[in-house]
Amino acid sequence: MPHTAEIVIIGGGIVGSSVAWHLTKAGCRDVLVIERESQQGLGSTGKSMGGVRAQFSTDVNIRMSLYSIPIFAAFEEITGYPSGYKSHGYLFVATQQRHLDYLRRNFDRQVALGLQAVEMLGPEEVRRRVPQLRGDDVVGGSFCASDGFVDPYSVMKGFMAAAVERGATLWRGVEVTGIDVDARGVASVRTSNGPVASRTVVDAAGPWAAQVALLAGVQLPVVPLRRMLVPTEPFPGLPDRLPMVIDMTTGFHFRPEGVGLLMAWNDPEETPGFKTAFDPAFIEKILTHAVARVPSFAELQVNPRRAWAGLYAVTPDHHAIIGPVREVPGLYLANGFSGHGVMHSPATGRLTADLILRGSSSLLDARDLDLARFGEGRLLEETAVL
Ligand SMILES: Cc1cc2nc3c(=O)[nH]c(=O)nc-3n(C[C@H](O)[C@H](O)[C@H](O)COP(=O)(O)OP(=O)(O)OC[C@H]3O[C@@H](n4cnc5c(N)ncnc54)[C@H](O)[C@@H]3O)c2cc1C
Repeated sequence: MPHTAEIVIIGGGIVGSSVAWHLTKAGCRDVLVIERESQQGLGSTGKSMGGVRAQFSTDVNIRMSLYSIPIFAAFEEITGYPSGYKSHGYLFVATQQRHLDYLRRNFDRQVALGLQAVEMLGPEEVRRRVPQLRGDDVVGGSFCASDGFVDPYSVMKGFMAAAVERGATLWRGVEVTGIDVDARGVASVRTSNGPVASRTVVDAAGPWAAQVALLAGVQLPVVPLRRMLVPTEPFPGLPDRLPMVIDMTTGFHFRPEGVGLLMAWNDPEETPGFKTAFDPAFIEKILTHAVARVPSFAELQVNPRRAWAGLYAVTPDHHAIIGPVREVPGLYLANGFSGHGVMHSPATGRLTADLILRGSSSLLDARDLDLARFGEGRLLEETAVL
């Protein structure tokens, strides 16, 4: 018997898993998720820093977070599985007046959209929250107590397990190699496990999304960009509920990870490509920025063998691409998260399920995130990218 599914999702990372869960929650049970790796999480999801925040600069990203963060907070009640959500907050530290003005504009927008836990801080208050920070140049900051971190792997597994309990199927170790399109639109996908007839297909292939879209003849402006993370050895003495701390001048940021820290920095010299090897030279660069903001980080111990690299899936306006492809009826996109795919996975699942099942969503104006915006010059620009 040939395989059939009402809806096929290509990619079993956190996004494909959330889409599957939202579809089954809405009553659609004939959902097949196809993951080419032998286990979930080997794409970007397992490499993520797990940061979640509502402190964004555009309405659409703020709304995505306003839906997503309460889902992480109540994840266990909702799905039966843990999310590892820790509401330690994000502390943006400004050392330049223009950055403080920018935080203030974002703050006004976030509050207008209903974010309650965000506050502007003076320099003394910034130092009080993290006394180890170099403070002589700090002009202020912003803090949001409902921001924080999750365990991306747990969220992905939880979404998928709960979806399977409601009837979804997960194929692992099966690659999608083709998408067949007829006069009505998507007709089937070809896989290493044989063809699957389906009129609805979701491209949730993370950094590989453009390759998958091309199987249906669709060009996606999504490029892979290497991103490196450096964990440290235990470093005692920092506040118990240390937030994600962001030095806005350099982009260096860090958060607690066990009894040590996890450090990140966007290297402007990085170039697009499927590069996933960690470059040891990155350690010296990031430690320079670390010590500049927290002098006692001169004592940090780092084991290069524990550091890793993964891929961001970046779009020209640093916003996701979500929704139907006009030219290929039945093909839906859920990708291009530009570093925000973990934190926005709940909203993406909800929006994608709404668009597939109802054609619209009350979550946000779906046109903001559609693929057509690139051709029509309706780009949004998210500047609060880490
Ligand atoms: C170092 C790093 C730090 C990050 N930090 C954060 C953060 O703090 N907060 C945040 O929100 N986001 C963060 N991100 C981004 C986040 O990890 C991604 O946006 C998110 O994981 C994307 O999930 P996904 O399911 O779309 O992609 P993935 O997890 O990559 O899943 C896509 C899946 O598709 C599968 N696939 C691809 N092609 C095929 C095919 N042809 N057939 C079958 N399967 C296929 C792949 O095997 C993969 O498992 C970070 C990313 C990196 C690399």
